[in-house]
Amino acid sequence: MKYREFILCKYGEIVLKGLNKGQFERALLGAVKARLSDIGEFDAYYAQSTLYIKPVSDDCDLDEALRRVKNVFGIATVTRAVAVEKELGAIIQCAVDYLPAFIKGAKTFKVEGKRSDKRFPLTSPELAAEVGGALLEVMPALRVDVNKPEVTVRVEIREEYAFLHANAERGAGGIPYGTSGKALLLLSGGIDSPVAGYMVAKRGALLEAIHFESIPYTSELAKEKVMTLAKELCEYTGRIRVNVVSLTAIQEEIKRVANEDYFTLLLRRSMMRIACRVAKMHSCDVLVTGESLGQVASQTMRALRVTDNAANITVFRPCIGLDKEEIVEKARKIGTFETSVIPYEDCCTVFTPKHPKTQPELSKVLEEENKIDFGRLENEALQALENRLISVY
Ligand code: ATP
Ligand code: MG
Repeated sequence: MKYREFILCKYGEIVLKGLNKGQFERALLGAVKARLSDIGEFDAYYAQSTLYIKPVSDDCDLDEALRRVKNVFGIATVTRAVAVEKELGAIIQCAVDYLPAFIKGAKTFKVEGKRSDKRFPLTSPELAAEVGGALLEVMPALRVDVNKPEVTVRVEIREEYAFLHANAERGAGGIPYGTSGKALLLLSGGIDSPVAGYMVAKRGALLEAIHFESIPYTSELAKEKVMTLAKELCEYTGRIRVNVVSLTAIQEEIKRVANEDYFTLLLRRSMMRIACRVAKMHSCDVLVTGESLGQVASQTMRALRVTDNAANITVFRPCIGLDKEEIVEKARKIGTFETSVIPYEDCCTVFTPKHPKTQPELSKVLEEENKIDFGRLENEALQALENRLISVY
């Protein structure tokens, strides 16, 4: 018999949102619908702190839908589930027909019942016992283990149907994309900044990106690598606009005029000022960087303070307390690592000083800064700004 399959998504933090819950649910539903728009017709809706995804057309790709919704922020667990009428005989028949394929290979299991519809005649434990018993009959090698089962089967009596499923998978967690405001991510080609972007997007920040290039010192291919990273982030965000700004003239002027020890700090302050102006153009509330305390000379506390002094909006540095190894682990998990390690030059590695100041004094930095007409150079850089909208749908 062919059963109707759904994808069920359980919310994470949204359930705690009190009076604002509806707004978060709508944002989540919008994100899910957008992610499924090109793989068949689905009916997606929410009820009782669960998002239901019901395939409508025959060409719905449920495996791909599951893979995609796993990356939608705001979802704690995701599972394929079968829907059946709320009658014990039908539930048991469905359990023995549908579930073995999902349990195959496991030695231990348990069944959990959940009765949201209290009109159903069996209690949750009774229901679990009935379904568990029926499964043991058709899979006699299986053993019940209520503490550490390899597979957890769930039978849920809900509003419209009874749902059965085995082994829900973890979703992306976080809160729905775009519910926390808009952030401008300083996206380099490295490992850290995509991770930083992911971390704030997971907490609901809508991402806009800015990338600084320095052609001919950096190449066209370095920029394409950044576009690939942006596309990889789109698995979670749907779309990102990347603003590309050239720093070539600014870097050449810094090299020509300033004391070498201050090259990087002057450059980073200029990047901050430009980023703040781009943030304003696109109504972003904060900047986001991939900096981590003590990672390089420009990321000591003192250097970060000098950099921050050039910004007139808040700067988020979500990787600040992470070791490189921890950032790498996250980059692998979100799927950006392989692209990040492709070797290309970055504007920050052009004209790097032999002895960068790790404990800079702001007054000295300002003295160097005043030798250069940054106002004019930054205006010119912004006039030549290009942007590209990167999207996965
Ligand atoms: P990443 O691995 O992200 O490149 P990093 O460890 O190489 O970081 P830096 O090169 O010092 O560190 O850069 C620190 C942060 O400054 C980056 O995480 C990023 O947010 C920003 N940044 C650096 N280079 C660029 C660039 N070319 N365009 C935009 N932002 C940049
Ligand atoms: Mg870098």
